[in-house]
Amino acid sequence: MEKVLLGSNALEKAYDPSDFRKLGHQVVDMLADHIEMVQTNAEHPVIPYKDPEDELAYWQQDFSSDTEILDVFKNILNHSINVHHPRYMGHQVAVPTLVSGLAGLMSDLLSNGTGVYEMGMAANAIEKIITDKVAHRIGYNSDASGFLTSGGTLANLTALLAARKAKAPSAVWELGHREKLAVLVSEEAHYCIDRAARILGMGSEGIIKIPVDDHFKINTSLLTSYYNRAKSEGYHVIALIGCACSTATGSYDDLQSLADFAEEHNLWFHIDGAHGGAVVFSDHYKYLVNGISRADSVVIDFHKMLMTPALNTGLIFKKSEEAYTTFEQQAQYLWDSQHTKEWYNSGKRTFECTKSMMAIKIYAILKTYGEEIFGHNVDRLYQMASVFAKMIDKRPDFELALMPEANIVNFRYTNVHQDDINTVNAEIRQRLIKSGTFYIVQTRIHGNLYLRTTIMNPLTKESDLIALLDEIEKIVLKQ
Ligand SMILES: *Cc1c(COP(=O)(O)O)cnc(C)c1O
Repeated sequence: MEKVLLGSNALEKAYDPSDFRKLGHQVVDMLADHIEMVQTNAEHPVIPYKDPEDELAYWQQDFSSDTEILDVFKNILNHSINVHHPRYMGHQVAVPTLVSGLAGLMSDLLSNGTGVYEMGMAANAIEKIITDKVAHRIGYNSDASGFLTSGGTLANLTALLAARKAKAPSAVWELGHREKLAVLVSEEAHYCIDRAARILGMGSEGIIKIPVDDHFKINTSLLTSYYNRAKSEGYHVIALIGCACSTATGSYDDLQSLADFAEEHNLWFHIDGAHGGAVVFSDHYKYLVNGISRADSVVIDFHKMLMTPALNTGLIFKKSEEAYTTFEQQAQYLWDSQHTKEWYNSGKRTFECTKSMMAIKIYAILKTYGEEIFGHNVDRLYQMASVFAKMIDKRPDFELALMPEANIVNFRYTNVHQDDINTVNAEIRQRLIKSGTFYIVQTRIHGNLYLRTTIMNPLTKESDLIALLDEIEKIVLKQ
């Protein structure tokens, strides 16, 4: 038996560089051809949509057949949504720069764990350079520091853990909290904030949702009354969270007013800039986050507006110290002491233990195209959204939900009977997806269904946006 096992060369084959070289060239050629095609051929589907059961059946059949690996890769391409397609305008996922994809291939093959210095020397050093750069863009001074982590959801949770450590009674990490803790946040905040607060044990009552104004920004005139009510009900409010920007409508909260309120009441001020925090790289749009440097912590996703493959998120603290005290645990097998603060052991500050070499994907972009590329991307996406909004506003059969501040544009088709507007718009989206011509999503605003687009692809042109509205009109006529 042992002989048979030792005799098999499958393991040697699995690590054979010459097989890798041959297949790798073919895969890169195939990817380049595919991306070229989706970028240039508007008729190629954005999404080759299949119902879930049909998709599952396809792969079950594939699994039991002897497809060659190159064909498997090809089939994955043909069964996936194409974010590189200029008519992809759906969820807020970056269209990854191609060079960052190559860095991703390196990250996967090197598989440096990165949490401890030896397991990711280059990645840790590069991560410091990048997060220092972001801290500088935010307007923090040299007391600030940050790290990269896997996604805005985890970054927001980590920031709230830091907030609890800083503002709740000091033994909270050892004893848990005995008092009722709460956070103040806009009702338009991303659902992960709610989830994070529940994970921290605050329960639904500890998440105090402040209503928004007509522009979907937190209504700052209500802060005092909500805060006082929470206090009178025995809550210890630890943090105030600002949205920069909100997910549904892309609205930026008034960060200066929030900072004033947080200062006055000794609250941790956190900014969820997962999507729109990227404007710190744009001279044109950084005014949207005026006051951001007054926050105690800021989250910015590189995999939203900063052209990097998912997941890749920066969490930056105004006071470096606070990133290190969030998790005070012994881990003898990783490092000698938890109490020392080495930037190069990034696992001391992250929720994660092993993490991918995220930093090299960002670094590849910066080294190839320079730091200005991020600002250019934000400018392009925000300007195109503004062009689109004005275009919608001019078409009599369409209604724009609100003038966008960011690259998120919500609208609906209205030239049908009032009672049918929601159903017709839901049907429009279904048909767009099933035909594969465009990818857009939907949201509810004041209870009504709106078509939601986010201009994520800098290669999306005005002609693509005109084509979307034309296509919607055609769908309605066909009904
Ligand atoms: C996308 C987003 C998140 C969640 O981030 P992930 O990286 O998807 O985990 C949180 N907040 C806002 C405002 C977002 O746009």
